[in-house]
Amino acid sequence: MAAAKNYYAILGLDKNATAKEIKSAYHRLAMQYHPDKNPGDKAAEEHFKEITEAYNVLSDERQRARYDLGGSDFNFNFNGTAGADFINDIFSQFFNGAKNARARGKPHDIKETVHITLENAALGATIKRTMRLEEPCATCQGTGAKPGTAPTICGACGGSGRIEVPRGLFSVSRECSYCHGRGRIVHEPCPTCLGRGVLAKDRTFNVTIPKGAASGTTVRFRGEGRIEPQGRGDLLFVIKVDKHKDFTREGNDIKYKLLISVPQAVLGTMREVPTLYGPVNMRIPAGTKSGTIMRLRNKGMPFINSDMVGDELVEIIVKIPTSLTPEQEALYKELARLDGEIVIPQERTVWDRMKAMFD
Ligand SMILES: [Zn+2]
Ligand SMILES: [Zn+2]
Repeated sequence: MAAAKNYYAILGLDKNATAKEIKSAYHRLAMQYHPDKNPGDKAAEEHFKEITEAYNVLSDERQRARYDLGGSDFNFNFNGTAGADFINDIFSQFFNGAKNARARGKPHDIKETVHITLENAALGATIKRTMRLEEPCATCQGTGAKPGTAPTICGACGGSGRIEVPRGLFSVSRECSYCHGRGRIVHEPCPTCLGRGVLAKDRTFNVTIPKGAASGTTVRFRGEGRIEPQGRGDLLFVIKVDKHKDFTREGNDIKYKLLISVPQAVLGTMREVPTLYGPVNMRIPAGTKSGTIMRLRNKGMPFINSDMVGDELVEIIVKIPTSLTPEQEALYKELARLDGEIVIPQERTVWDRMKAMFD
């Protein structure tokens, strides 16, 4: 029977401590006595177990109440399975989670740009990309050790691959220089990969471009990136939509400029207009002004992960002719006369005509 313990004293608290105080006391002490910070220090390890046990009881409302009733006679079965699971849980939550994220960082992703057309973005597409990537060596299963031998845990960092270096009040974590962050030491290198554990290989990926993709949209292949001591990163294809010769994109709308002639604007017409989904016929009503925006519904960009589609906005530009055939000129003059306007006669000199030729 283990000796009765004063869990409050272990955490440096009194009986009225709040749940928050208990948590922060545990956090502070656990950081101080964590075995990773005190390699080989048995006393620190024992103390760490003790504070964890105290926290285990005091952080659980029911257990704390029982403990408070029984006072120091309460005996928590620290070595039982529940206790061990709890420790593991705390470990992964407090340390592996927080510590890995902070000190070791996440493994780095590989980013690769994929150029696509605006049509690809509108209709969706699958683009094949071959990448030369480092893959785990099949001979040694990525350990880098010759088959039949096994790497040993690095003594310098205890297998974590990181070493804490004190810096004033804080400590910073850096890669272990002895094992280069691997946490393992290979004694007999694998003949295939020469101990690196990885081999460069060409791999082909089908990059599925989602409908509505825009520049900056990423397609992620989880766990296919760089192999690093802290795990394998992701492979990211970053989409870049190339400029289109006819269309500009504004959010989910597509803009297009359509040139029409003066008679078409005045009399109205039917025109074929290109869209991302093929040409459509658009009726331009008589009397359409230059700058009029006509909307082709659902001919724009799809909204990503949605059934909604933007519109194509057709801006009508009425083209004013700058050079006329004598016949056209005569007709415009006739129009002006019918309107009752005064036409300034354009008597062209030989020089004017020559200039027009070179313009
Ligand atoms: Zn190998
Ligand atoms: Zn090491």
